[in-house]
Amino acid sequence: MYIILLGAPGAGKGTQAVFLSQELGLTHLASGDIFRQAQNSGTPLGNMVKDYMERGVLVPDEVAIQVVLERLGATSEKSAGYILDGFPRTLGQAQALDEALAAKGLAIDLVLYIKVSEEELLRRLGGRWICRVCQAPYNLNSAPPWVAGRCDRCGGELYQRADDSRETAQKRLEVYFAETMPLIEYYTRLGKLAEIDGEQEVDVVGRSLLATLGKFKEGPQLKVRDSGIIIKSPSELTLMREAGKVVADTLAALVRAVKPGMATGEFEAIVVEEMAKRRARPSFKGYHGFPASLCVSVNEEVVHGIPGERVLKEGDIVSLDVGAIYQGYQADAAVTVGVGKISTKAQALIEATRGALETGIGAARHGCHLGDVSAVIQYYVESRGFSVVREYVGHGIGQDMHEEPQVPNFGVASRGPLLRRGMTLALEPMVNAGDWATKVTSNGWTVVTADGSLSAHFEHTIAISDGEAEILTLS
Ligand code: AMP
Repeated sequence: MYIILLGAPGAGKGTQAVFLSQELGLTHLASGDIFRQAQNSGTPLGNMVKDYMERGVLVPDEVAIQVVLERLGATSEKSAGYILDGFPRTLGQAQALDEALAAKGLAIDLVLYIKVSEEELLRRLGGRWICRVCQAPYNLNSAPPWVAGRCDRCGGELYQRADDSRETAQKRLEVYFAETMPLIEYYTRLGKLAEIDGEQEVDVVGRSLLATLGKFKEGPQLKVRDSGIIIKSPSELTLMREAGKVVADTLAALVRAVKPGMATGEFEAIVVEEMAKRRARPSFKGYHGFPASLCVSVNEEVVHGIPGERVLKEGDIVSLDVGAIYQGYQADAAVTVGVGKISTKAQALIEATRGALETGIGAARHGCHLGDVSAVIQYYVESRGFSVVREYVGHGIGQDMHEEPQVPNFGVASRGPLLRRGMTLALEPMVNAGDWATKVTSNGWTVVTADGSLSAHFEHTIAISDGEAEILTLS
């Protein structure tokens, strides 16, 4: 696979190229590094390119093309492909590269253009400093070192590359706009260009690049993971928000329909109709063979109740659990409501379960441990005299209904994986009025409390962010 990263000096191409090469197992070829190495080693090539580099202008095409193509042919590393960073930079180089690849029956697969405004580029370039010893980059504006002038990693001295000084930076940008911008049009015409907003946070840009690559590649999407948990890109979150809205609207329709005398099987048609209206699909239908589009669990039924002939009567409580798939992305939510007038105890159980979910959502944020969420849910429930179900837990969710991690409603604070922005979780406390033990009935699906006590269930799909988590299952 051949991927070109295009972007002005200061657009973050180098950082993203390293990230992509690690994620995808591709070899990173940075033309600037090739020329800098040559310059430092004092080879004839180095002496020749020194002057150009110091002036911030491009090395002549004949030289650049020969050197980079040679390196491309000569790299003996066993590689799944290349990320080209800094080459091509002129139309002549792009054409020479296309020809060289075509001669080998190859072609550029995709050109990722990281777009950043000129004003921001100048700000970034002006602040760029590098460690003389380990080459770690710093930015005095956005990522300064702890101690001024010293590298955080190795204590080495920081210096500003000659070609990052303001005058040279300005020159490099001028050259970029004159020589390299035409490549945007060139690759657009070839249908190979994808543009990414480079003014977002570094990790968001990285995720956007991966998501773009995933869409372009055939087959399953490439997924960014942290502790095995998939991080969603902003565009994936947009689809999950849509799926969440479908779930919330459907649940609202179900709750409106609840009345004494109705059979639980009557809910099925409501889900089918509400989902179809919104071009979504119920995720439960057929999942591991589940026979219905929602779960309806009454009184002592905890979860996975199958809609059927059971008739709701005044004083029952009923848990409604729905999942939707919208354009390949899922959301999942549940509520428990009373049928007509219910007992004070049943009402307290419902309130404790709803409150436990809200408290769990309040605790779930970037940088905290999953165990922090589990622990507050458990404490909230148990301090009200109820118990949390152990055998069934919440889960990560996204393109699959059940992704990593499992989200227990009991646990120890400061334990478990760290939550990161972009993770999406279905939090779902299942709370029993009596003991937490459960069993499965003879239909092989419906989970009931072992002691026959009442059980309630509330669930939302949420996205972790810096502040309070975003609830995705809202109308
Ligand atoms: P970079 O680190 O990519 O900004 O490159 C640093 C310098 O190396 C540039 O200012 C140019 O002088 C030279 N250089 C890097 N890549 C090329 C290229 N594709 N064509 C010509 N000169 C290049």
